[in-house]
Order: sequence, then structure tokens, then C-alpha cells
Amino acid sequence: MSPITAELGKRVNAGAETNAFKCYQCKRCSIGCPVASYGDLHPAQVMRAVQLGDIDAAAASKFIWLCTGCETCTTRCPQGIDIAAVMDELRKIAREEDKVNKDTGFANVLKLNLDSMKRWGRMSEIELVALDKLTRPSSLMADVGLGIKMFGKGKLPIIPGRGDRKQMRRIAAEAERIEAERRRMRRVPIVDKEGGE
Ligand code: SF4
Ligand code: SF4
Repeated sequence: MSPITAELGKRVNAGAETNAFKCYQCKRCSIGCPVASYGDLHPAQVMRAVQLGDIDAAAASKFIWLCTGCETCTTRCPQGIDIAAVMDELRKIAREEDKVNKDTGFANVLKLNLDSMKRWGRMSEIELVALDKLTRPSSLMADVGLGIKMFGKGKLPIIPGRGDRKQMRRIAAEAERIEAERRRMRRVPIVDKEGGE
């Protein structure tokens, strides 16, 4: 078993501008979360993994990719923890540390979607489906019936439409620049104003 360390918690706190160490496991976040029952972990379990410094459990969790960012958990938390921001931060850490669970459909599709937008200036549905199936073997036979139906209705055009590629790349580059600046500014771990971490 890996030793308990505060490193992951400090990193998450700095990026999310919150204090995950204040969680006392009341589970109000999990009870209110609309997708808690569909994941491998629920929000309170993710928070516990962060406190324990268990990056493999927290950042490789499929749940962090199911999170819709609805902020119900953040609203319900009696400790005022921004749990939705913690999920955001864990997704970034998962990408940076190459911890994304390879069988997590939504994580794969989000990445492919961004690449597709940069390439074509808009999303290419057929490319998205094809690349997801090639890069995530468990998706190979999934939704085949739906795909045939969509194809029949002309919803999966073979030739991708072109959007404003230059503008899309500019937007993506600007978003990356803002995020890099945000991370640079938050390098120092946030310490609780009441004294603890
Ligand atoms: S609601 Fe807040 S204190 Fe309660 S388990 Fe969730 S994160 Fe922890
Ligand atoms: S922000 Fe994410 S973790 Fe929080 S309640 Fe919504 S879906 Fe659940």
C-alpha cells in the first residue's frame, strides 16, 4: 500500500483554490450528485482519495470524467469545499500524469473532439466515431445500431464540413495560454485562513 502523503491534496488545493483537507466525509456531495451512481467512485470517495494522496485512485477514476460540472456538490458541502473545481483539477492532473483510464469513453471523446475542432474548424462526427473506435477497443461494437440509424438520416456526413479553422486554433491557443498563466499564478499551495491545511 502506498504511503499517505499530502502532495496530491496540496496540488489539487492550489489548482482548484479550495481546501480538500476540510472534507469530513458527510457524503452530502455524493447524495446530491446526479451521476454518482454511474461511476466507479462517488464524489466523497474521490475527496478521500485526494486527502490520502492516492493519485491512482483519484486521477485514474472514471467518475471524474462523468462529472458534469453542475456544482450541486459544491452548493451542498457544509465545509464550503469547491468539489466541482476539484474534479476539474483532477482531470487536468490525469492528463498531465498520463493517468487517464484508457477505457473512459468521455475522456477519449473530449480529447478527440478538441483535435477535430482544430483540424476542421468544427466537430466532425464521423471522424470522432471512427477515431474513438480505433483508440478505445471496448467501444468497437458499442452503439453500432445507433450509428447506422444516424448514418441513414444523414447525421454522420462522410466528408467533414469546414468551419473557421484559423479562428478555432486561435481560440484553442488562447485557452491554453490562459490556463498556463492561471497555473503559474497558483503554484503556491493554498493554506486555510483558519490556520490548518
Ligand atoms: S459534502 Fe463536503 S464535507 Fe461532505 S463528503 Fe462531500 S466534500 Fe466532504
Ligand atoms: S459537479 Fe460533478 S461531482 Fe459535483 S454534483 Fe455535479 S456531477 Fe456530481
